[in-house]
Amino acid sequence: MTATLNGMTLPSWACHIEDKQAPMPLLLVQAFVDTLDRDLGTDIFAHAGEARAWLADAGLRVPDPDRPDAGLDAGFADDLRLAREARASIHALIGRNTGSEPLAPDDLAPLEQVLGQAQPRLDVGADGRVRLGPDLPAHALTDGLLGLLLIIRDAQADGSWDRLKLCGNPDCRWAFYDRSHSRRGAWCDMATCGNRLKNRNLRARRAQAG
Ligand SMILES: [Zn+2]
Repeated sequence: MTATLNGMTLPSWACHIEDKQAPMPLLLVQAFVDTLDRDLGTDIFAHAGEARAWLADAGLRVPDPDRPDAGLDAGFADDLRLAREARASIHALIGRNTGSEPLAPDDLAPLEQVLGQAQPRLDVGADGRVRLGPDLPAHALTDGLLGLLLIIRDAQADGSWDRLKLCGNPDCRWAFYDRSHSRRGAWCDMATCGNRLKNRNLRARRAQAG
């Protein structure tokens, strides 16, 4: 666990999100998408070792202790490709919340692949609650990604999904959670992206005017 500025504790898999964190469990979707930082040019999924460790920490692909080979290197290149493609898909889904283009079949193809390989299961627990699984942590990446889709579905049902947005700075596009009363937040961070964009637009207008 990592302490944050406001005294809350963040799970270690979300420590790259410094501000505007979504509530749990939607935070997991945000943290997954924000493993790619376009502004800094860093990507947790750029290196197999770092990606494997992050996916295990987040419970999206935890090596099965009964099958020690299954979760390690076997097939990881394919899993890593699917993780990157599914991340782009979910990023595009979030983009719809800020009114970007309708999703194209290509945007959805990685998620279709997940659904082709893993199916949700309905369970009734001893507590009498009806749940859709698989639950996280998952041993197979496809089950982990399916778990993310179920979190998205629940967030769409309770309305919190609409507050998960992409930063309005086209060079950034960081996923952030808009807690503002007006729900009109547009920047991951006003001091960086907000002002940067404002200044750029101002310069452009001045250049046009001049
Ligand atoms: Zn930004």
